[in-house]
Amino acid sequence: MGKVYLIGAGPGAADLITLRGADLLKRADIVFYDALVQAEMLELAPGAKQVAVGKRCSRISTDQRFTNRNLVEAAAKYDIVVRLKGGDPMLFGRAQEEIEALESAGVAYEIVPGITSALAATAELGVSLTERGVSRSVVFATPRVGEGEDVSDWAPAVARADTAVLYMAIGQAVEIAGILEAQGMPLSTPVVLVENASLPASRHVGSTLRGLKDGAARGLSGPALLLFGDVFRKRAHALIGRELMTGDVPLQAAPR
Ligand code: SAH
Repeated sequence: MGKVYLIGAGPGAADLITLRGADLLKRADIVFYDALVQAEMLELAPGAKQVAVGKRCSRISTDQRFTNRNLVEAAAKYDIVVRLKGGDPMLFGRAQEEIEALESAGVAYEIVPGITSALAATAELGVSLTERGVSRSVVFATPRVGEGEDVSDWAPAVARADTAVLYMAIGQAVEIAGILEAQGMPLSTPVVLVENASLPASRHVGSTLRGLKDGAARGLSGPALLLFGDVFRKRAHALIGRELMTGDVPLQAAPR
């Protein structure tokens, strides 16, 4: 019986995986990887059979139950089975479902953490998520609700946090901005959008909650995060000027 390693691939850049994760990839017999995992990172596992199981919203996806079963079956055949997930496995990565499948099948497993995309985004922006006197709370949330799940009450926590990061939200950004406004978040709240954090195609857009409502997220298509809060004020405003100059994003951010 082999062992299954749930490994965080980090935000995208191939050198932002942990040494432990890279070492396991090198020794892996088989790797099941997500759609957000970059081809470069798979080069770290030259000896492994590589199986794509990822899902990217609205593209072809692999059923989660199928992935769970794959992992259990692979553990019966191989010594080192790697499940490689974007960012950190324990944050919006459906790791719990895989852990439960492995536990109920009696398969040994280990989690290797990774850098979640929110941390790569703030590193790139040069903005700390917390700041003395400005931000003492950080919320990571997603408005996405999977099929068959209960309605989510994500908005109050986001509106109340000093700093908030929304995952899987870019496609519904206009609606999200309306929901947050209804929760009492001021329209002047600084917003930064970060697309493809840590990758060469990385892009930053500065805005406000009002700008988001007016379509600031239009034109972003890669994986992206919405970041809210006063810690982003300076950066958002600097970016607004730049984006308006280059004019490549239809941005109507309101000045404060
Ligand atoms: N476990 C992952 C998140 C998976 S959910 C993590 O810890 O980062 C997928 C969402 O993550 C995407 O919709 C997007 O919001 C975000 N994301 C992943 N990679 C990203 C990147 N390089 N840049 C910006 N956002 C990213």
